[in-house]
Amino acid sequence: MTTIIDGDRIAGEIRGALEESIGALADHGVTPGLATVLVGDDPASQTYVNMKQRDCEEVGINGIHVDIDGDASPEELYDTIEELNADPEVHGYLVQDPVPEQIDYREVLRRIDPAKDADGFHPENVGRLVAGNARFKPCTPHGIQKLFSEYDIETEGADVTVVGRSDIVGKPMANLLMQKSQGGNATVTVCHSRTENLAEKTRRADVVIAACGVTELIDGSMISEGATVIDVGISRVETDSEKGYELVGDVDFESAKEKAGAITPVPGGVGPMTRAMLLYNTVKAASESEGVPVELP
Ligand code: NAD
Repeated sequence: MTTIIDGDRIAGEIRGALEESIGALADHGVTPGLATVLVGDDPASQTYVNMKQRDCEEVGINGIHVDIDGDASPEELYDTIEELNADPEVHGYLVQDPVPEQIDYREVLRRIDPAKDADGFHPENVGRLVAGNARFKPCTPHGIQKLFSEYDIETEGADVTVVGRSDIVGKPMANLLMQKSQGGNATVTVCHSRTENLAEKTRRADVVIAACGVTELIDGSMISEGATVIDVGISRVETDSEKGYELVGDVDFESAKEKAGAITPVPGGVGPMTRAMLLYNTVKAASESEGVPVELP
């Protein structure tokens, strides 16, 4: 029987535990604060920041949102970044990607105070992660590691194929998996758009992590019997439904499910974990910067 990995349930448990951590911080007069910065009015980005703000409200994090005009100069955004770096109520923040073309996202990341870098994308935090000394793990790979531990999916000694080499998912995921630590110790293959014979690399894996943004690229014929399949992809595909679209992953769920030992659905798999781990990073940032140790899930 294939296990359907329930990201909604695990994320709910993590959020419940974080509410307790937030209560413990409140006993010391600390309310964690997360700011989101949106430059422009990209509808998908607006949806994402709205969800992040709603998540904050639900668990008792002080959510602060800053909207910046899509025509703003880089300097205007840098001023906001300086204000957030200096604001004692803001323990963590992020600038929603993508940013308009006049703005260099790498330069934006570089200016964020690494101690407030809720996404874990600042070069210092990337370096720490690679060195095996992460301060903030990027939310999606961290959430996937949590799913592995909750479902007793052993990574030690496992062959893991990661499909995608983005800075936010593929690269940090591969790095975490290869580390000599719990949730790591895997033998990792990283595939990308120039990879040849992709199916050969996914078929030999005990765990396949699909993060390429190509709808249903990975099907059952590319999975070995009993493998774990983690689908990170989220693409909006237009349909005749009331909403006008449905969310589709990078895995052909129906055929992959026939072969997989465990598989994440879309939606309800990795997505809610990513959201929960952003809250986790915010609580961690508040705890560390305020010098109030609390238990984290
Ligand atoms: P990206 O879009 O920045 O890059 C895609 C990566 O996939 C690249 O490294 C590219 O080399 C690789 N790729 C593209 N086509 C390929 C192919 N045919 N074969 C093999 N590799 C290929 O990546 P991203 O930002 O990591 O996003 C990937 C997907 O994950 C998107 O659908 C995105 O919406 C989704 N996503 C979901 C979550 C979540 O919480 N579930 C979080 C982040 C991203």
